[in-house]
Amino acid sequence: MSVPLLDVNAQNLPLESELKAAFDSVLQSGRFIMGDEVTSFENEIAELVGAKYAIGCSSGTDAILLALMALGIGEGDEVLCPSFTFFATAGCVSRVGAIPVFVDSCPACFNIDLAKAGELVNENTKAIIPVHLFGQAADMDSVMEFADENGLAVIEDAAQAIGARYKGLGCGTIGHFGTYSFFPSKNLGGLGDGGMLVTNSEELADQARVLLNHGMKPKYYHQFVGGNFRLDALQAALLRVKLRHYGEYSSGRKENASYYLEKLSPLDGVVVASEADCCCVDTQNAGLRASRAKIVLPVAYKHNDHIWNQFTLRVLDGRREELREFLIERGIGCEVYYPVPLHRQQCFDDLPKRPLPVSEQLAGEVLSIPIYPELTISQKDEVIAAIAAWLTE
Ligand SMILES: *Cc1c(COP(=O)(O)O)cnc(C)c1O
Repeated sequence: MSVPLLDVNAQNLPLESELKAAFDSVLQSGRFIMGDEVTSFENEIAELVGAKYAIGCSSGTDAILLALMALGIGEGDEVLCPSFTFFATAGCVSRVGAIPVFVDSCPACFNIDLAKAGELVNENTKAIIPVHLFGQAADMDSVMEFADENGLAVIEDAAQAIGARYKGLGCGTIGHFGTYSFFPSKNLGGLGDGGMLVTNSEELADQARVLLNHGMKPKYYHQFVGGNFRLDALQAALLRVKLRHYGEYSSGRKENASYYLEKLSPLDGVVVASEADCCCVDTQNAGLRASRAKIVLPVAYKHNDHIWNQFTLRVLDGRREELREFLIERGIGCEVYYPVPLHRQQCFDDLPKRPLPVSEQLAGEVLSIPIYPELTISQKDEVIAAIAAWLTE
């Protein structure tokens, strides 16, 4: 039996009749741009995450772009963000003409390490984009304190963390803006592209809404240059169907993560990353090397409600490719998120070079295994058995 990394049909096909009914309803309405489906979906997402305002967008990427534009970030500005993330986080910064300034990450929680950010701030620094990577919140108390001290705007890239919480607050609702993605592999996966921007500021919400639609207000009058970053009514209608089942998807992912942690952590050569190790690479690596660990399991902090967009192992001693090939030979889907940290991407060659040792280390060690909610117990057991076999090889 093979176990895919993700099986969107296992999630969507059981909803076939509900999805077709949603399609029919939009078809019959003849309303394809904006309208009730989009507004209702925005309200439902605002409610889910606990934000005052939600604005449907054409993608998670466009939500980040729109947030930067609404904050007036552009030419000559600098924006702090992690290097160990998906490209869109930093790509949007460049697209508005600003400069991404990469901050190193924490080897235990995979998120931005604020201890490394202070030395990177200057008078051009305008914002910081923490990413809640793999579905677990970044250290938002530290982010907000750092942003306050330095007068920075905060955009939370919560593409992988819709519905995740940090100390009870919805990821994406703590900074000035939060952004979500409905790319099919995200926790609330659409049938195409889609995204959402949230904020608690009426002023920022108004500005974003104008820019979403060509900076037009009133119709055919343009005070600003915006774009077309709108979410389709059809996509909103389909996503509303899936949102009704979101609780099951999240609990499925959490059950799968608990199962892996329970079954994998007792194996010889496996350790769990720990909160005590967070944001302190030197002591952590010393500890791990000494303990003969081969694989480090991800940790879910007690103050976070981790929603497990990915379940990401760290494979030590340069053996990641070996485990990856071993799993693929046995039909177990796995993937490296992300193999090249952003400061090493060719498009950023012109940016000043700074050492980001943890980002590079993670890019060389990480391997994500199947965690999607519809995994069966026998599929999970197969993944576990394959990892156990590799450990004893
Ligand atoms: C997926 C993702 C995005 C972009 O979302 P799209 O909807 O694919 O444009 C941005 N940031 C992170 C961290 C992501 O994982």
